[in-house]
Amino acid sequence: MQLAPQNTFNYSRKHMRKTVSSCKELTRNLWWSWDTEAKEIFKELSPILWERVNHNPVELLRHISNEELQSRCQCDLGKKIERVAERFRSYMNEPATWAAANAPELVKNPVAYFCAEFGIHESVRIYSGGLGVLAGDHIKSASDLGINFVGITLFYKEGYFRQYLNHDGWQLEDYPLQYAESLPIEKVIGPDGKDLIISVNIAQSEVFAQAWSLKVGRATLYLLDTNIPANESHYRDICCRVYGGDQNMRINQEIVLGIGGVKLLNALGIDPAVYHMNEGHSAFLTLELLAKELEAGTPMEEAKKIIKNRCVFTTHTPVPAGHDRFSRDMMHYTFDRYLQQSGIEFDDLMLLGSEDRSNIYGLFTMTVLALNFSRAANGVSKLHGEVSRQMWQKLYGVSSADEVPIGHITNGIHSQSWASGVTDHFWRKYTDNLDTLTASRQAAEEVLARISDEELWCLRYRLKRNLIDFIYRYLGNQLFHQHTHSMYPEYDSSRLAKNTLSPDVLTIGFARRFATYKRAPLVFRDLDRLNRIINHPTMPVQIVFAGKAHPHDDAGKDYIRQIVEHSRRPQFSGKVIFLENYNLGVAKRMVSGVDVWLNNPVRPMEASGTSGEKTVLHGGLNFSVLDGWWPEAFNGENGWSIGHGETFDDYQEQDRFDAEKLYSTLENQIIPTYYEHDENNLPVKWLKKIRNAIATIAPEYNTHRMVRDYAEKYYLNRNND
Ligand SMILES: *Cc1c(COP(=O)(O)O)cnc(C)c1O
Repeated sequence: MQLAPQNTFNYSRKHMRKTVSSCKELTRNLWWSWDTEAKEIFKELSPILWERVNHNPVELLRHISNEELQSRCQCDLGKKIERVAERFRSYMNEPATWAAANAPELVKNPVAYFCAEFGIHESVRIYSGGLGVLAGDHIKSASDLGINFVGITLFYKEGYFRQYLNHDGWQLEDYPLQYAESLPIEKVIGPDGKDLIISVNIAQSEVFAQAWSLKVGRATLYLLDTNIPANESHYRDICCRVYGGDQNMRINQEIVLGIGGVKLLNALGIDPAVYHMNEGHSAFLTLELLAKELEAGTPMEEAKKIIKNRCVFTTHTPVPAGHDRFSRDMMHYTFDRYLQQSGIEFDDLMLLGSEDRSNIYGLFTMTVLALNFSRAANGVSKLHGEVSRQMWQKLYGVSSADEVPIGHITNGIHSQSWASGVTDHFWRKYTDNLDTLTASRQAAEEVLARISDEELWCLRYRLKRNLIDFIYRYLGNQLFHQHTHSMYPEYDSSRLAKNTLSPDVLTIGFARRFATYKRAPLVFRDLDRLNRIINHPTMPVQIVFAGKAHPHDDAGKDYIRQIVEHSRRPQFSGKVIFLENYNLGVAKRMVSGVDVWLNNPVRPMEASGTSGEKTVLHGGLNFSVLDGWWPEAFNGENGWSIGHGETFDDYQEQDRFDAEKLYSTLENQIIPTYYEHDENNLPVKWLKKIRNAIATIAPEYNTHRMVRDYAEKYYLNRNND
């Protein structure tokens, strides 16, 4: 036997060290969260641990010893790590991006995008719902397109709550802490080599915030954190919970986000090409920009014009009550010291946020401030654009809503993030990447032509089976603590085993925040009719629900309780399921597994909605009220509508009408189409709809298209330059 020469051993040791550091490098940039192979690496290291740490690779590596990691890097896994790390590095250094070719101005200076929440991955719990997920998908696409992009938000120590239900189905909230050491975030270091700390004035105090940075591909997300010893404890709590606390907490958060955010950019020497306020929460940023101009000696009116020319604003709220408003007293108290130092008069400030310009004694509205200071504003779907123009017509004093300068850009999703795993592998058999598939309707149709009905149906079965497997694992935990929590000793696992979800059954999914306008329990309006639908002898149906109600929203919590109660009725047991703790991870499972994604808000209260867009590349079909994005996308063949956009002033009447349409469309169209199989046992009409949905929806309702629209219509200011 011949011994390996000494130098081979040395070489491989060096090689292995390099691979270990490549693995660690991958954990420090959330790029991995939209790369299927990168995620497979972490899962392969330890499938169980990967689940336990909520898919957080930084935390995963904290649980794996150096010895183990080094050894694991010496075989095939090591090769995979190097391959993925190589792809990551070439992604980071790619010069030939969309922006380089189409928007070089946005490569030079960054877009500064402000949002109170970012939903990038379930392991970084700084989001609550749709707004955050949209911001997360936006920043990923901006990175993919090569736009120089910085996000600004807060670092919430407790994040949004973890939901669990007691035996009565009542939502309880738990606020597990998240620690910087377990996240891929770094302290921002200032020019002096010390931690970068900025400060803002709140009431009579100077409040300090430490800055963190999080890499999202080529983009950087900055997070401000007031939870530092320099602050009094009630100011440390500003960065505790997403949308936590009262109005006072809210205004403090918004000052840190908006004013603090601008101060941070200044301290970093970043000069944005444009400031994008995503929803009104960050609109105080305009005051800080104004104060800077005034300080430099610019006269007020000219300063206002300059600021307005640098900002754009996206509104997300189609109902007047949904907009952030603060009382005059609260504004006076909170901005006292700020105004003294900035040279802005209190009445001038109030005027900037007054909906009625003749009355500065009313409420201060963040949306009004944002509209006053943006060169362009938009709603997030065509319908929402129209609703917003009507809502703010008075503010502009124009005779027709059409003259209100609010446009629209319809929301999308980051396709690569939402189509990861099995679905990603599926598409990659037929095309080099998802960008090719979603480039245009024609491109999608070309790819689809290479796929047989058998293959498409096989994908649907596989994804549905994966969801069902996931639900059983998940429900085991959920029922276990529902029973322990209420001191019920018997944990009824037999019920689960008897009544199992089946992949042969048409599966409907409904998951979103439990805001009451989304009407989660609508399908239960007529229990007998629903019973006939669900328990049909040859064409049964099963429904999976998930969603969180805001901790202060008892009506939303009661909706959850009602659904849980229904799910325990003998006729629905095991066929109607409520999954706890909806988050990005649960969303991914649900949108990929279900056959039909149900959406029944009160029109026109859903500004856009995006969850239905997530289901399409997995072969899911939308069934929705014609609200938000759906009236634009629905063509009669790519899903179903609930009614034709009929609206009634009376809520009861609306519910009755929409429920009737919901049932009849299910009974007469959706269910028969699903169960109609040809001689090869394939639901050919259903598959045709899936193909139509993929070809017409995926190329349009994604954030690559959306961010390109923002860049071309809003970020680039070519006419004014
Ligand atoms: C997509 C998503 C949402 C938004 O869903 P809508 O249908 O737009 O309300 C909310 N929460 C999570 C976790 C999501 O993934």
